Amino acid sequence: MIAEVIVDIASSEVDRIFDYTAGPDIVPGMRVSVPFGNKLIEGFVIGLKDKSDYADKLKSVAGKLDDFVAVGPEMFGLMDFMVDKYHLRKIDVLRLFVPAQLRGGRVGEILLDFVQLALPYEEAVSMVSASAAKQIAAIEYLKDAGGFSSELNKLFGASALKALKDKGITRVFKVRKMREPDTFESSDKSVKLNANQREAVDRIDRSKGVILLHGVTGSGKTEVYMNAVSHALDRGKTAIVLVPEISLTPQLLSVFRARFGAKAAVLHSGLSAGERFDEWKRLLTGEASIAIGARSAIFAPLSNIGLIVIDEEHDGSYVSESNPRYDAKEVARFRAGYYGAPLVLGSATPQIESYYKAQTGEYELVSLPDRINKKKLPEVEIVNMSREIRMGNREIFSSSVKQALENCLADRNQAIIFINRRGYFSYVMCRDCGFIAKCESCDVSLTYHKTENVLKCHCCGKTYRNIEKCPHCGSTHLRQGHTGTEQVAEEVKKLFPHANVARMDNDSTRKKGAHAAILKDFADGKADVLVGTQMISKGHDFKRVALVCILEADYSLYMSDYRSNERTFQLVTQVAGRAGREGLDGKVILQTYTPKHYVFRYAAAYDYQGFYEKELNTRQVTKFPPFAKIVRVLISSPSDEDAKASARKTYDALTKVRNDSPDDFIYFQGMKSPVEREMDMYRYQVLMRIKQENADKIIRSVYTATDKCKNKKSQIFVEINPQNLN
Ligand code: ADP
Ligand code: ZN
Ligand code: ZN
Repeated sequence: MIAEVIVDIASSEVDRIFDYTAGPDIVPGMRVSVPFGNKLIEGFVIGLKDKSDYADKLKSVAGKLDDFVAVGPEMFGLMDFMVDKYHLRKIDVLRLFVPAQLRGGRVGEILLDFVQLALPYEEAVSMVSASAAKQIAAIEYLKDAGGFSSELNKLFGASALKALKDKGITRVFKVRKMREPDTFESSDKSVKLNANQREAVDRIDRSKGVILLHGVTGSGKTEVYMNAVSHALDRGKTAIVLVPEISLTPQLLSVFRARFGAKAAVLHSGLSAGERFDEWKRLLTGEASIAIGARSAIFAPLSNIGLIVIDEEHDGSYVSESNPRYDAKEVARFRAGYYGAPLVLGSATPQIESYYKAQTGEYELVSLPDRINKKKLPEVEIVNMSREIRMGNREIFSSSVKQALENCLADRNQAIIFINRRGYFSYVMCRDCGFIAKCESCDVSLTYHKTENVLKCHCCGKTYRNIEKCPHCGSTHLRQGHTGTEQVAEEVKKLFPHANVARMDNDSTRKKGAHAAILKDFADGKADVLVGTQMISKGHDFKRVALVCILEADYSLYMSDYRSNERTFQLVTQVAGRAGREGLDGKVILQTYTPKHYVFRYAAAYDYQGFYEKELNTRQVTKFPPFAKIVRVLISSPSDEDAKASARKTYDALTKVRNDSPDDFIYFQGMKSPVEREMDMYRYQVLMRIKQENADKIIRSVYTATDKCKNKKSQIFVEINPQNLN
């Protein structure tokens, strides 16, 4: 037989099929070792055939790397799909299908050193001098059950343990350790579905297409997912459930574990290499049949998939923005389609594009319009911060927020204070009249660039002189940037010295497990107030939160991005949804300088439909997605000269593409990227907006044109509807 092999080298020159002769034990999907040049390298067998055009020169496969088939037959179709759609190399896609650590033989089963006393306790103690405190302590520790070497070394020091072993007091042997990822403990609440939930589950069961599950916060979507998963398993099938960032939603995993036990496996980047491998292997062998995880879990090695769920489908994290670039939702659609299984996209605030597809019949729409037990959504109060300032309050908190916090704490309830620091840039805003510096031709705010001391539009690239005073009212009370979580937490402590304040942001959650720990402490009532960034907006179900305060709600509104209205609406709705979940009547206070903005009006009324229609209309008029595709070709290099030269060449090549069908282009411009230098790379871009109708065809030409501009001195990436245009 001839094996068709893709070698594990990330280079476009060798990203094609190489033929090798192979014995009968080699089957497609296996990882093998093959001679390449003058050494052995790893590769994936993607097919077998009888004849090769190079028959007389073929080398043979040196051997298989695993005793299992790592990549199932469906995945080859997925590989072709992704290669075509995202213009990726085959090897980059194949690498996504197996745990990174499997490659290069870096992980397999772990065998750990386990230490036990080799002698009865008294005898062991008698052999150690009383002054060797650490050795005595170790013997004490080992008395009952023994322990793992790594743990013991940490506790008592390696030298004490070595001494014990040398004296024959302990013995060490190898045991296989299954790496179980951490979860919250949780017991399975068996609930009776309400009529809406039952209807939703029925429709999922019957569907073979994409279902958009639009359910308000607290409407019991998780319960719908679990029932649908359970039905899929009953039919002998498997399921994938994706969540935005699993480290932020350990509850989901724990409720799945509580209901499905070891049938649920978890895959995400927060796991150690070993844990990941073990969970992946359990899915591959069928020991587990539900894969739960963040974006990359969409590549779970399951076959016979009966259901895929993407929770919080509006979340930007489903799109991979670094190489290899792909959209997990599109991958999910391919995989579900292959098996004729339903794909469920769930959200309280669906992405505009998704809802549009539901409206135009491409997706099926299923709604859960009420909270469980018809619990009211919390009332939202909008506070006008310009007015606060006019009344002499220049502090972070409005008087409303202060009062509400005081009441909340006096009632021994909990509060969440949300401050959106997502993003990188400041905006320039007048504190007296709310004026915000905006571009003349685009509805986006200008960004202050410090090095050049100018304001720039990140949409069209126009620059403006920086302003010292407000062109609208003349005030010099301008602000750039924003108050951070740290300052807010400090302020709460100052105002309420007896309150326990916890903080959750990128700084406070750097350590593994820190997210979960902060959330658990808050859920257990160890903190009264939780101050945080958008991390706290995601799917947590806290029972005692009576108050949610949203500070600087405007911030995300003026990110230079066509999605900023949508993101703000989503954030406000999601954060507001954390209030008043059980028993309590929640209250939400939103501080803004633009209280009349339609985003806040619709968000305060929980009117998704209204917001959607308004926003869709704007996008139709201004020609943004879903009515156009934004394509950015990003060119970067450690040398400014090289980046610029490469950008110019790319721009010229793309100009030809544009000139072939000028009517399809709404916008076409080459410029420096808004972040001109990032991680020591100089960045340039060609930004395009292309009418929806012919976008796919034109994007292919864009790929072909940029391929020809590739060179060793710079990187060139094509991004479609990027999540972030920095
Ligand atoms: P969502 O994901 O839509 O915001 P959740 O799935 O977190 O909502 O559900 C909110 C709460 O309601 C959870 O505590 C869940 O256990 C509970 N719940 C869900 N369905 C029911 C039901 N049919 N009866 C009683 N409680 C339910
Ligand atoms: Zn002003
Ligand atoms: Zn502009």
